[in-house]
Amino acid sequence: MSTEAAGGGPGGYVAAIKGSQLGLKTACIEGRGTLGGTCLNVGCIPSKSLLHNSHLYHLASHEFKKRGIEVTGLSINLDQMLKQKEKSVKTLTGGIESLFKKNKTEYIKGWGTFKSANEIEVAGLDGTNRTVKAKNVIIATGSEPSGFPGITVDEESIVTSTGALSLKKVPEKMVVIGGGVIGLELGSVWSRLGAEVTVVEYMGAIGAGMDADLAKSFQKTLQKQGMKFKLGTKVISANKTADGKVEVVVEPAAGGAQETLVVDVVLLSIGRRPNTDNLGLEKIGVELDKRGRVVTNHEFKTNVPGILAIGDVITGPMLAHKAEEEGIAAAEYIAHGHGHVNYDAIPSVIYTHPEVAWVGKTEAEVKASGVEYKVGTFPFAANSRAKTIDDYDGLVKVISDAKTDRILGAHIIGPGAGEMIAEAVIAIEYGASSEDIARTTHAHPTLSEAFKEACMGTYDKPIHF
Ligand SMILES: Cc1cc2nc3c(=O)[nH]c(=O)nc-3n(C[C@H](O)[C@H](O)[C@H](O)COP(=O)(O)OP(=O)(O)OC[C@H]3O[C@@H](n4cnc5c(N)ncnc54)[C@H](O)[C@@H]3O)c2cc1C
Repeated sequence: MSTEAAGGGPGGYVAAIKGSQLGLKTACIEGRGTLGGTCLNVGCIPSKSLLHNSHLYHLASHEFKKRGIEVTGLSINLDQMLKQKEKSVKTLTGGIESLFKKNKTEYIKGWGTFKSANEIEVAGLDGTNRTVKAKNVIIATGSEPSGFPGITVDEESIVTSTGALSLKKVPEKMVVIGGGVIGLELGSVWSRLGAEVTVVEYMGAIGAGMDADLAKSFQKTLQKQGMKFKLGTKVISANKTADGKVEVVVEPAAGGAQETLVVDVVLLSIGRRPNTDNLGLEKIGVELDKRGRVVTNHEFKTNVPGILAIGDVITGPMLAHKAEEEGIAAAEYIAHGHGHVNYDAIPSVIYTHPEVAWVGKTEAEVKASGVEYKVGTFPFAANSRAKTIDDYDGLVKVISDAKTDRILGAHIIGPGAGEMIAEAVIAIEYGASSEDIARTTHAHPTLSEAFKEACMGTYDKPIHF
């Protein structure tokens, strides 16, 4: 049996490797010239490199002194910071090529279009064309930044996330359109490096659906770090001026007086759209939903036999780890008929400082479901490790079912939240109660004790707060 994965991002490359490991003759078609998709090339990896290094700069410029470390002549070498970012991208994308070789997965470099349900025409990057035949094809073509009517992106002064990863200099002023994960992460990077960043968000809160308590606390922290917010505000236009600036016209979402913000760079981060254009999907009759996403069943099968779809191109959170899980499950469904993705246990992380991470239901969602619930919270200000390292903004909030004590959601804002959330994901995956976690020994002094204490607070009382 043969399988092709169209798209070499976290969904496609993982599906291809898993397919090979399960004994399928597998190839992966990727047109961008490197493997790893959005995530490795222009997403998760380069953004985390910049977040890490800009955080180090922020620490050195704002925190070292009080910690007894004197630095003189501190400055930013943006070129070097960008080179460091490129190095991490190159190492990791190259690593996937090695994994393909190790697993005997064929890497086809070129852009694929369906000729028929089991034939893909590939316009090779070397200028040659070929037709690839497969019994099963997994569409994993991912997504691209959504446009904004009337705003022209030049990736220099009006940029998407891709341009924001490679600005040639630190802007004096920057507007971020959209207060979701990507806008807040990249806004944070440039704010730490010295830009005056204003986030314009249509909704009344930042954080794209995070628990309301965390969103408020998160916004306050980012404000303390210097970021400005215009919530409940809509963007009307953004146009370049003759002197190289950008004029952004905004007005209250509820109506009211317009205001013009004059800035050096505008980051457009209002979401992402699935990559389904130019794939020939209409020719073979693959069904799309109203938002252009490929429609699949729980086994990732489309309405056309032999064609599956995974990752950003289908419904669900646009996250690399979600795409990877679906890639493994899709290969398993093809090879032996069963796979597994638990959509109740997919974590989200915002890699700012402090980090924000959550899994499961928000308090508002649990309330709306009518289930009786309990909430336990524990502030990092009462956690000994956080105090020791003088980094204690934030809290852990755990929500459990009032009758069964089963954990329904966990929401963390604080240092190391992105690592700590794994504990909550495992708890939810295994159906743990908050008492299970509260009675589990956590090493002292660690930040994860805050998670244990929040669970103590859910089923009983915390000790240290
Ligand atoms: C700035 C930014 C930061 C992010 N940070 C995170 C993060 O920290 N954590 C996280 O989980 N997610 C993050 N994401 C989201 C994550 O990158 C995506 O969810 C993930 O890459 C989706 O994987 P995918 O395989 O579905 O698609 P993609 O990664 O988009 O890969 C699809 C690939 O298919 C290729 N392709 C498309 N059409 C064709 C064709 N016709 N022929 C051949 N190849 C084709 C594309 O070139 C692309 O390489 C971030 C995204 C951005 C933009």
